[in-house]
This record gives sequence, structure tokens and C-alpha cells, in this order.
Amino acid sequence: MAGETFDPWGSELLSDYEHLFSEFGMQRVDEKVLRRVLNANRLWRRGIVFAHRDFDKWLSAFERKEGVACMSGIKPSSEFHLGSKLTAEEMIFFQKEFNAKVFYSIADLECYADNGIPLAESAKTAVSNLADMLALGLSEKNCFVWKQSEEKRVMNLAYVFARKTTMNTLKALYGERNIGLYFSVLTQAGDILLPQLQDFGGAKNVVVPVGVDQDPHIRFTRDIAAKFEAEYGFKLPAATFHKFFRSLSGESKMSKRDALGVITLSDDADSLKKKVSRAFTGGRATVEEQKRLGGEWKKCVVYELCLFHFEEDDKELEERQRRCASGEISCGECKKEVIEKIQKWMKAHQEKKKKLVPKAEKMLAGD
Ligand code: SF4
Repeated sequence: MAGETFDPWGSELLSDYEHLFSEFGMQRVDEKVLRRVLNANRLWRRGIVFAHRDFDKWLSAFERKEGVACMSGIKPSSEFHLGSKLTAEEMIFFQKEFNAKVFYSIADLECYADNGIPLAESAKTAVSNLADMLALGLSEKNCFVWKQSEEKRVMNLAYVFARKTTMNTLKALYGERNIGLYFSVLTQAGDILLPQLQDFGGAKNVVVPVGVDQDPHIRFTRDIAAKFEAEYGFKLPAATFHKFFRSLSGESKMSKRDALGVITLSDDADSLKKKVSRAFTGGRATVEEQKRLGGEWKKCVVYELCLFHFEEDDKELEERQRRCASGEISCGECKKEVIEKIQKWMKAHQEKKKKLVPKAEKMLAGD
């Protein structure tokens, strides 16, 4: 719907992505861009990463053989869920395919400002979150991880940026918020621009992969980078945006605030079964109708689980579409197959993660 706005801390869905291009000036991930994305994975092939800001310039820098970087972060308020997995996979993709150095912020101060979680508590969650990243494929070799509360350079940048930021700017972007959240916006700008400090080799092309709701942070930080260009030599950070992954109820974006609608990477086989069994589908009212009319996979969260996360093979995905649309398969049978698929993926992931927890602890201790 035209006129919809973003709330980076909320859980609403945008009903239409189209107006983002005309109203907010985002650029499309079109064929021209896609051709330059090496070994495009399912997130790119399937239009899940659908928009960007200056990512074409980032690609040009890579093609000119300039070193490129990728920056993003996690608010360690709870276990990784399928939404956070999307950002993680984008970062790992840039690291692997473009040899981009990964800069990863543990946003523990934002976690306190937004969720009231003390730093000692979020530190434990941060270990688990980082272990998930490692299990998903992050290499610690070309990577710098920090906690906001411990990285003085980020705090200094936040102070510097505050000098050229007015309350009116923050209110226009985020609405009426507490000062802690406003300050966490400045801190995030510090996070995003940290890779361009002299300590890390100076100005460079950095891409920030995020969910589309995080665009206010991107726009704000790009403005800050321009304002401090003369002083610090910053280049405007690029961004790629992925679509929301819906909650299992189909009603809001998957968010840590909605415990029943969220699949976390720590869920056991039983809870996965319970959650997916209750998920919203595009099934018809009766078995007879389903056979006659077919299911509506475009509406279905179970289908989206495969599209976004658990079906790598495009042909298999198309086959699920076909079986659904033709009425060949019931939602009960379909869910059973998808549950087994997810349980298998999760078991392998959790086994890998378990072994990587000590490495995550070491990385966060700065060893
Ligand atoms: Fe969704 Fe599967 Fe039912 Fe189709 S058959 S609506 S894909 S659960």
C-alpha cells in the first residue's frame, strides 16, 4: 500500500514492495545486476533479495579488483530465527563468493535500549548467535566481530555523528522514541562506518545486507557518511534488501517478539513439528475442494518455508507448486514432508553448531 512506512523495531508486514522503488528510491535487483552476482544462490535466483542501494557500485569495485567488505549485525535478544538466518546467509555469500571481509556487530547496547536485556545476559545469547553464524558457514579468517558495548571506536563515532544530527531528523525517520533508541541509531551508524576507519584500511566499498524494514538505518547512515565525508573520507555504504519472512501465522514478519510464530535454529524436532503443523497454508476448506481446485501455494507459509529456506533445488520447488496447484497433494501430506525436511536440516545444523560454540566464545573474548 502506498504510504506505508518502515519500523525497524516493529513486526508489521509491508503489503506491497513496489512503492519502495518510487517512494523511497530503492533500486531493483534486475537482470543486469543478477548477471554480475557470482554463483547466485536461492536468495538471489528467487527474488528474495529484491532491492538495493548502490550495490551496482559495490559490484563495480569488486570487478575492478578493489577489496570489498560486508557489514551487518545481530541484536542478541534471543536465539537465531529464520529471519536472522537470511541476513547471515547473505553475509556468508558475500564472504565466500566475493572474498568480502565480514564486519559483524553484536548490537548489545541496542538490545538493552529496545528490549531492556542486561549486557551480561545478552552476552550469552551472542555466543549462541555467533555459533549459528559459524555453523551456517561464516569463516572466522576474513572476519571482524565486536560488541557495541566494548568497541570504543563505535561509541566515539556515535558521539561524533550526534553533532550533526537533530531531533527533527530522528523523529522524521523513526517517530517519537526514547532517547536510548535514538542513540542506538547513532551507534548503528558507527557500526556501519567502522570498517572505513584507518584502523581497517580506510575508505572502502561496504555492502550492508538487511531486511527491508531496516532501510531507515541505511538512509540515515548514508546521510551521515556524506556529512562526514570531508573529515573521514567515507564512501556511502551500499545495501541489499531481502523480503520479510512471514511468521507461521502468516500475519506478521517473523520476529523474536512472536514466540509461537517463529522457528528458531535451536528448535527441537517436536516443537518444529508442532509449529509447522499449525502454520497458515493456502489449503481449501475441504479435501474435496482441494482435489478439485488445488491449493493456493502463493498464500502458503509452508510453501514459503521451502522457497526461502529449506528447498535448494529449484526443480523440486516447482514440483511442490505443481502438486499443490493440481490438488495432487493434501496440506496434511505436504506439511509432513516439509516437517521432515526441516527436522533433518535442523539436526545437522545443531550438531555442527554444538562443536563451534567454543570457537564463538573465543572470538567474542577477542582471542
Ligand atoms: Fe501449502 Fe502444501 Fe497446502 Fe499447497 S499443499 S497450500 S503448498 S501446505
